Amino acid sequence: MKTIALIAHDRKKEEMLNFVLAHKEILAQYDLIATATTGKIIQEKAGLNVTTYLSGPLGGDQQIGSKIACQKVDIVIFLRDPLTAQPHEPDITALLRLCDVHNIPAATNTATAKMIMRSLSDA
Ligand code: PGA
Repeated sequence: MKTIALIAHDRKKEEMLNFVLAHKEILAQYDLIATATTGKIIQEKAGLNVTTYLSGPLGGDQQIGSKIACQKVDIVIFLRDPLTAQPHEPDITALLRLCDVHNIPAATNTATAKMIMRSLSDA
């Protein structure tokens, strides 16, 4: 089964939840992984199974980055907050860099994420 990584910064968590609820049927067909808080919200409020890693600021982005480096992640949806400085900025940059290294589709906003979902439902 293919794996989708879901990560949302604090001010983007509600947007992530709404996105997940709107695409629940498609997402349920994939292995979902997430950083701690994002994953917990998706599990509790959308009822999807999610494998969670550490919270982003504690190393979760690096954990998911290592899975991307090992080519164990097929799609990344990373709703980052473009208006707030993050203490783990280097980890965020590294994760997105690895997506480019390994040519992994990576959405950093819901417009792109929706297009990816549409391409999955057409497949
Ligand atoms: P979180 O981590 O899902 O645990 O909040 C994401 C982040 O803030 O990078």
